[in-house]
Amino acid sequence: MGTMRLPVVIVAAFLGLAQARPAGVRIYVIDVEGGGATLVIAPSGQSMLIDSGSPGPAAERDSKRIADAMQAAGLTKINYLFTTHYDGDHVGGAPAANAVAHFDRFFDHGEMDPKWEQNATGGARWDAYIAIATGKRTIVNAGETIPLAGVRVDVVASHGSVIGTPINGGGAKNAFCNPADVKPPNTTENSQSTGVLVSYRGFTFLDVGDLTWDKETDLACPVNKLGRVSLLLATHHGFFNDQSGAPALLWAIQPQVVIANNGPRKGMAANAYERIQKIKGLEGLWQSHLALATDAAHNTSDDMIANPEASADCKGHWIRVDVGSNRSYTVTNGRNNFSRTYHVR
Ligand SMILES: [Zn+2]
Repeated sequence: MGTMRLPVVIVAAFLGLAQARPAGVRIYVIDVEGGGATLVIAPSGQSMLIDSGSPGPAAERDSKRIADAMQAAGLTKINYLFTTHYDGDHVGGAPAANAVAHFDRFFDHGEMDPKWEQNATGGARWDAYIAIATGKRTIVNAGETIPLAGVRVDVVASHGSVIGTPINGGGAKNAFCNPADVKPPNTTENSQSTGVLVSYRGFTFLDVGDLTWDKETDLACPVNKLGRVSLLLATHHGFFNDQSGAPALLWAIQPQVVIANNGPRKGMAANAYERIQKIKGLEGLWQSHLALATDAAHNTSDDMIANPEASADCKGHWIRVDVGSNRSYTVTNGRNNFSRTYHVR
């Protein structure tokens, strides 16, 4: 069999992918202190960063952490930047991230709402993003796919709309839809979030940015349009201010593993922790940060928390997910190398 491998090595070197490449998908949930920056590397070697961290002085910190993840993954560039929405903690770091990642293409939900542009910081963020994305930009709608070679990437929400047709085996009536849980339409930029379902050989990863409760309900009721997922990036950094985390979606998609990209004091409040623990069949909860405002009983176990410190002392450890081709995946804490392997159901 050894002779069979030689051509693969030659092709990989030709494509500039000389580093050893895992057989499956690799995901880094990069710690950007309560913002978004998740790196997805397909088996082909093509890569996509979902959100790029915060602006201003934080951008230097966040782009360095993105560069660290690239180095660990053996990447010299990242092919795509996929921006869920234009809040500072998701797109503010885009120019600094572009300087280290040299994105070829940009994907987003479309124009920023004028009322956000009128806001001084919102307008500056928008201008900075457009300056790097123009000419390389694709606006995505719910129901479309992102061409990341080797995996399937379905856009499930964008610009206030969600998919009309169920995917991933979804479509069943959802017993968790409860009129008492409905929240009124949200009009913030969060509600415009794009979200993706990444699928690879039975493994599924859902990242919907900061999509709001009302849109999560649209995805889940009256039928669950997403089926069941393996891994969920907890919406809005772990249901920040209870604007996300609709139980109708959370409990219907039944994530086997949840990772929260929370900050020390952003997301993963006690009620978020409790709602996640009620997911039927939950096998693991991982957190980017220890939630400092709550107690040990409402944080996951220490081994599964990447950063126990407050931001000033934070080392910015990531959480890595290695998805094999054999229907299993391993989650690893970058701080202590603690890992657990899960079998796709
Ligand atoms: Zn956010």
